[in-house]
Amino acid sequence: MTHNPLPCHAGNTNFSVHNGELIIGKLPLSRLAARIGQTPFYAYEREALNQRVAELRQFMPSTLKLHYAMKANPMPAVVQHMATLVDGFDLASAGEMKVALDTTMPPEHISFAGPGKRPVELRQAVAAGVTLNVESMQELHAIAGQSAELGMVGKVALRINPAFELKASGMKMGGGAKQFGIDEEMIPEALRLVKKLGLAFQGFHIYSGSQNLKAEAIIEAQQKSLRLAIDLAPHCPSPILKLNIGGGFGIPYFPGDAPLDIRRVGEALALEMPAIEKALPDAEVIVELGRYLVGEAGIYVTRVIDKKHSRGQTFLVVDGGLHHHLAASGNFGQVIRKNYPVAIGNKMDSQVLETVNIVGPLCTPLDILADKMLLPKAEIGDLVVIYQSGAYGYTASPARFLSQPEAVEVLV
Ligand SMILES: *Cc1c(COP(=O)(O)O)cnc(C)c1O
Repeated sequence: MTHNPLPCHAGNTNFSVHNGELIIGKLPLSRLAARIGQTPFYAYEREALNQRVAELRQFMPSTLKLHYAMKANPMPAVVQHMATLVDGFDLASAGEMKVALDTTMPPEHISFAGPGKRPVELRQAVAAGVTLNVESMQELHAIAGQSAELGMVGKVALRINPAFELKASGMKMGGGAKQFGIDEEMIPEALRLVKKLGLAFQGFHIYSGSQNLKAEAIIEAQQKSLRLAIDLAPHCPSPILKLNIGGGFGIPYFPGDAPLDIRRVGEALALEMPAIEKALPDAEVIVELGRYLVGEAGIYVTRVIDKKHSRGQTFLVVDGGLHHHLAASGNFGQVIRKNYPVAIGNKMDSQVLETVNIVGPLCTPLDILADKMLLPKAEIGDLVVIYQSGAYGYTASPARFLSQPEAVEVLV
């Protein structure tokens, strides 16, 4: 077995190669494709998920709780497997809650965030006994109303929109005017309302951003989040039980991206833990991670159905595209389009290279999976692999666009 030999594959060494084929879930890719019976498909690997969580735990303080943010990949089999690896789930809809509650994860370790939760979602969450991460004053009143109707006490944590930002983040979700959370300045008033409404106070949720590869920026945001919670503790109606300090751990997608230095993040957090345990003795400190846990464990696989030449360029036309993988096409929040790491999964050892554009079947110029990439020379029938596809892949794509067939998702 050898590891990916070509520079364009940089960014993912999870998968090995045997006889020129990418191996995933111990199967050569072409055999997996035959087993599935169609392309395109997504394949997620259990062993890669296991290793990722084990490695993370090795570097994080032992008392830190790891939660999985389900929106990164809500495939039920993946969520079932993650239930055996992490300490809790964070959800963003009642649909996700259904999948989460089908697992063995106890509701006490599940929280539900997101602006604009509908009344029925609040009611379902109270009935389930999950913690609602509250995003507005109005939502507190609505939870109290649903709790009264059910004869239950709703569990709430306040999501804080902090005054600080997570620097160098792919997506900022805190600081300034935001639709997420309650502004830091209004938290004392919100805490008084929690008490007045008789809700069960659980703690705080401070989520400031996503896709960050800079350990320094994450460390700074974590320290500020911990300090903010300590400052707010005297205003709380009861001890802080849960202190969710967010996540934002990124993964490398593009050439030049260096992986996040998780060891440094863990070491810095370990230095903070004694002071937190002293100031907030009842609190469990939580990080919630989506793409960091699942993103590198998945691939998207699509087959070449045509090969054509146009004015000096070569095009591989494949049977999948942006309708299954919006992020790899560059249309999911990216400012400048960059290629995800790509391979020809059944020609991994080939040294005969060719510069190609890989495009999908949709009638739009946006449907690009690779732009002028140097890859092993491919022909009709070959399997194109897009790495780093375990998070925000199928779930974040407009699958109905152009009425194309659906992709299949498997956990191997
Ligand atoms: C999207 C989101 C996450 C997960 O983000 P990743 O970048 O996948 O880690 C976690 N928490 C909240 C509140 C989110 O909105």
